[in-house]
Amino acid sequence: QAKSNGRHGVCFFDPTMQAALLAHVKLEADLRQAQENRQWILYYQPQVDHLGTITGVEALLRWQHPERGMVSPGEFIPLLESMELINDVGEWVLESACCQLARWAQNPLLRELTISVNISPLQFRDEDFLSRVERVFARTQVPLYRLKLEVTESLFVEARDEAREKMLALKAQGVRFALDDFGTGYSSLAYLAQLPLDQLKIDQSFVHQVLESQANAAIVESTIALAKSLNLEVIAEGVETEAQQAWLLSHGCHAYQGYLFGRPVTVEAIEELMSVH
Ligand code: C2E
Ligand code: MG
Ligand code: MG
Ligand code: MG
Repeated sequence: QAKSNGRHGVCFFDPTMQAALLAHVKLEADLRQAQENRQWILYYQPQVDHLGTITGVEALLRWQHPERGMVSPGEFIPLLESMELINDVGEWVLESACCQLARWAQNPLLRELTISVNISPLQFRDEDFLSRVERVFARTQVPLYRLKLEVTESLFVEARDEAREKMLALKAQGVRFALDDFGTGYSSLAYLAQLPLDQLKIDQSFVHQVLESQANAAIVESTIALAKSLNLEVIAEGVETEAQQAWLLSHGCHAYQGYLFGRPVTVEAIEELMSVH
């Protein structure tokens, strides 16, 4: 809002707006620095089967900020998207995960593990996405059937046939696909059935309240049924209690991810977990 500022003329921003704008500009500059200096680290969260055996991990990005310490992706992924930096950072994430898979492939204790990598819809829709991904695959020589790409329903709201074509191209090379945060988007079920998916991830918002809310229980039950009838794997996200896990198991969901089984941790910590199991 414009304010008259005596004989110095017009001041266009009030102080709080100016502070917010400056903070935003600083954050953008910090993010460019972060990409230049690779201030990124991948944490890995275990995914377990009904026996508690770790079958895979999800790669979750963290920003090691020089002053602020570890920053969570919720705070900076949207900004990376608006800055179009998501393509470069996303490539770093994919390459790091693929290098990890290639290393694990050498170790009998670790070589069965899968890694799930989150792909932003903007990153997936970028015209260079396929060629970038294929270059990463060529550089890392990764066993592609151990790689799962997590996409969300929002990818299929616009230009969905294009997205489907890209999925098919990657699928043909062995890559697998998970639909993340399932149930929170607006995609049509009819269309989802035509996608080359391997796994549905039940969103944590439904899992958290599964014992308290009839509605959430109904959503989780129908997601499990849908996965069965479409021949997809199903995994519950955000499992925090034994009671939630028991409920999920008794309703036919045999794969879980959540704090009950482990928080996102460093690669060393994952390897440690695997060697003691
Ligand atoms: P997501 O892909 O749905 O990942 C699951 C999020 O839930 C993670 O948050 C994880 O730490 C958290 N979580 C797991 N288990 C539990 C639980 O039992 N309770 C609770 N309360 N939370 C749990 P995180 O790491 O902060 O990531 C948030 C989101 O940021 C991710 O949601 C994903 O959408 C995005 N993200 C993370 N890494 C990347 C990345 O490399 N690329 C892109 N494009 N997005 C990413
Ligand atoms: Mg995810
Ligand atoms: Mg999720
Ligand atoms: Mg999410």
